[in-house]
Amino acid sequence: MERKKIVILGAGYGGLRALKELQEQQPNADIIMINKDPYHWEMTSLHEVAAGTNEPEKICYPVDSVIDSKQTVFIQDTVTGIDRDNKKVMLKQKDPVSFDYLLIALGFESELLGIEGMKEYGLTISDISSVERIRTQIDQILAEWKKSHKEEPHTLVVGGAGFTSIEFLGELTERLQSEIQNNRLPKNKVNVICIDPSPDDMPAFDHSQTHYAVSKLEQRGVTFVTGRIKKVEPNGVYYENNGKIKMIETDTFIWGGGIRGSSVIKNSGFKEKHSRVLVQPDLTVEGEPNILIIGDCSAVPDPNGGIYPATAQIALQQGDCAAYNLKALLDGRPLKKFVYQYRGTVCSLGPKDAIATVMGKNLKGFPASLMKKIVDYRSIWKIGGVRALLRLWR
Ligand code: FAD
Repeated sequence: MERKKIVILGAGYGGLRALKELQEQQPNADIIMINKDPYHWEMTSLHEVAAGTNEPEKICYPVDSVIDSKQTVFIQDTVTGIDRDNKKVMLKQKDPVSFDYLLIALGFESELLGIEGMKEYGLTISDISSVERIRTQIDQILAEWKKSHKEEPHTLVVGGAGFTSIEFLGELTERLQSEIQNNRLPKNKVNVICIDPSPDDMPAFDHSQTHYAVSKLEQRGVTFVTGRIKKVEPNGVYYENNGKIKMIETDTFIWGGGIRGSSVIKNSGFKEKHSRVLVQPDLTVEGEPNILIIGDCSAVPDPNGGIYPATAQIALQQGDCAAYNLKALLDGRPLKKFVYQYRGTVCSLGPKDAIATVMGKNLKGFPASLMKKIVDYRSIWKIGGVRALLRLWR
């Protein structure tokens, strides 16, 4: 009998963790991993590269280092769609790849909310090339700051005051402070403005934690403005506040206002909302038991009737469950339900500061930032093992 083919799309937190677990179970099947890059990127550190406080090579390791070549073939290519009727994955460059079982773990894209000019002029924190663009822009601002005697300051605007934006602002303000100190630069040459409909509200944290984060960033020079972004132009951003449209002049607008699942989900005709599929409790797609979806492309109901947020923590745990269920499908055994074990949330405010909620306790400052490092290193170790840990240790 022909050996079955398991195809995994995406070597992020969910996909690579699932591959690692599956390889350990040595299924009687051929495994194919498809990813657009030869590297696994630590998406939870993208904001550091954007702000210029970390280097791209310190947040990635080769996908190959997790591949067991006796069981798995790695294909580097971009997935363009899934032909579910014919059980084929369509690729940008290579021939389509057929599958018996498919695990989709293609992660997130920025949610642009249909805002005019956002696609053309907004910079996003969504993958390595997008954060390298932000970094180049910030490097240019700093270079001008160092050499010019121009009076008017440069203005940098961040849209959205959620998790990603706050973490980015934490790194950015740290970098600006150290540039001022190290190069004896005049202060107030860069204005940093963050616009959000409710700037002091982060769903994962209580008011005292959010207040701590916002006031720390304000002390470091960030101005929070209440408003909803309406339009982005090359030289300015428009927002609505109390029914009035206002404009801030800037040529550097960074959008951190939300995410959606990979566009491959929508393009492949799945029943979706924001390119996320409401999966069955065992992570399979309703009516398609040979397809599992995990991570930011999936939506998992929480006990309160909502949907769990898209996090690396959930993607990793789903990766374990998906590996078990793929092996169970091959062996003809019952699948297990995914049960999310919430372990806490940490939001960094730069290298030495953070807010955290861990096991029902609130932490702030250095202890919270230590917790962030523990969480990050644990996830690197859980997928990439000791070699990846040594490569990314700082
Ligand atoms: P990802 O880890 O995003 O991996 C998707 C993979 O698919 C990538 O390798 C990508 O290259 C590949 N891919 C995408 N499209 C294609 C294609 N068409 N063809 C081929 N390959 C493709 N979560 C937390 O739990 N804690 C945090 O502290 C935290 N901090 C964050 C900070 C920032 C700045 C950001 C942006 C996110 C943060 N998150 C955090 C969220 C977390 O990063 C995501 O929830 C997580 O990455 C989702 O994992 P995933 O497995 O679904 O996909």
